[in-house]
Amino acid sequence: MSTNPCVMPVPQPKVVLHDHLDGGVRPQTVIELAAGLDVELPTTDPVELASWFTITPGMEFGQAWQRFYVAIAVMQSSDALRRIAREAVEDLAADGVVYAELRFAPLNHLSGGLDPDDVLDAVVGGLVEGEAATGCVARAIVCGLREEDPERSLAAARLAVDWVGRNVVGFDLAGNEFDFGVEAHRAAFEVARNGGLGITVHAGEMAGVDSIAAALEHVAPDRIGHGMHLIADCDVEDGRVTGLGPVARAIVAEDLMLEVCVTSNDCLGTPMSQHPVRLFHDAGIAVSVNPDDRAITTTTVEREYLLWRQLHGFTNEEFRSINLRALEAAFVDEGTKANLRPVIAAGWK
Ligand SMILES: [Zn+2]
Repeated sequence: MSTNPCVMPVPQPKVVLHDHLDGGVRPQTVIELAAGLDVELPTTDPVELASWFTITPGMEFGQAWQRFYVAIAVMQSSDALRRIAREAVEDLAADGVVYAELRFAPLNHLSGGLDPDDVLDAVVGGLVEGEAATGCVARAIVCGLREEDPERSLAAARLAVDWVGRNVVGFDLAGNEFDFGVEAHRAAFEVARNGGLGITVHAGEMAGVDSIAAALEHVAPDRIGHGMHLIADCDVEDGRVTGLGPVARAIVAEDLMLEVCVTSNDCLGTPMSQHPVRLFHDAGIAVSVNPDDRAITTTTVEREYLLWRQLHGFTNEEFRSINLRALEAAFVDEGTKANLRPVIAAGWK
């Protein structure tokens, strides 16, 4: 009989750069919050709701977005936002995450009567509570949305800049990449950058390499959300990249990290075993491991690591360098990075 049968392995220290607050709400929390609101759910069984949340390949865009609308519908009060932010940090910390950037579009949370500062106050408050309870350092990224009036993304960027120094560290553009270009939102990115925020942008997730090129041209991002379709700008022979096109060369030259989300990309139709993350990594393109939408794609951070290991052969040594590099690409202050660097370096053996 073992003398110590109940000790759980300590998860290795991880950095998460791409995780949507609305895409990661616990199904049980959605059910509890919806009960007090006029929000209709397809089911009040947490297991069935978790299953309903999952976007599947081929699902129509509108159907997929309906999942987000349900989550957003219960995120319209300070208490709900604070709770959901705190729970997100708790869930990430349980998977060993020591630093996380949680993103969301604050202007989607005003229908219950909150003003934009109330929304930030509640979310940042929840992140601080989660950090205090778990030790996982958590920061916020404010999103604009491609399909919305550029004036609205500009307002989101101005709001985010007002919160610089109060745990808001970045600005992102999410939403419908198929139909809406990044160019219209240049002013928002300019305000965000000049205001001291880190810049990331969803590109090469739904649309092709031209969308990544447009992001580089119009936004000058520090990181790219997804970037999966960058593979179309790479020559691939015998399972390795043998040449880079102009966009891929620019990504390498500027050392722009791709915030890779394997399960999420599978939901949009790229089977996870065919994800180009191994090709990218071996070609010197910086990649990081991210869950994107934990609830809406039914994944966890640990599961993403498992997929990278099992399907793409990543080792602890590679994860160590990937996480150290992700920390350098984080939008947090240098003092926090200095504290976390040795934790990550020591935690991957
Ligand atoms: Zn995303």
